[in-house]
Amino acid sequence: MKIFCVGRNYVDHIKELANEKPDQPVIFMKPETALVKNNEPVYHPEFTKDMHFETELVLKICKEGKYIQPKLAGNYFDSVGLGIDFTARDIQSRLKEKGLPWEISKAFNQSAPVSEFIPKSEFGDLGQLGFHLDVNGVRRQTGDTSLMLFSITEILVFISTYFTVKPGDLVFTGTPAGVGKVEIGDRLEGYLQDRKMFDFSIR
Ligand code: MG
Repeated sequence: MKIFCVGRNYVDHIKELANEKPDQPVIFMKPETALVKNNEPVYHPEFTKDMHFETELVLKICKEGKYIQPKLAGNYFDSVGLGIDFTARDIQSRLKEKGLPWEISKAFNQSAPVSEFIPKSEFGDLGQLGFHLDVNGVRRQTGDTSLMLFSITEILVFISTYFTVKPGDLVFTGTPAGVGKVEIGDRLEGYLQDRKMFDFSIR
């Protein structure tokens, strides 16, 4: 399976990292070894001193497709979840400065914890879906899909132009502002609307 991620998809987050607003989606991938499920703890890697949480709506692909047509995009995912796109920000900043690929700062082991996936029909309008993250009981990130630069449809159309999507593939749709550093011992609780989706610790 493949894990696709969209970078720079919320304007306020683009501003907080002083990035340029993209004219097409910024896409990268993580391998299967990045996945963490079932609220298993995430072990803080030794190679970074600045691991950031990025809370993101995640789509689960249910149908193989390439060159997906906009009006059919909804047929290619049937459930949604919430995940964290963990990022070694110190390493990413160094790589970005040199114009090098981000891979090791984004795709490392356990960099993609995800919740269970829930049928999308249970959430109403996916274009107006609120989510948030609490760290140690304090609200740290609040997002709403209505603030995405590229919609779910635009993301799926773009990705499937280059990559065949297959059932089980995941798509992280980007993070709103408020990203921040985690420390060993932190507890992360994520909510989609009012529904608790994950609750795990950093060890
Ligand atoms: Mg991200």
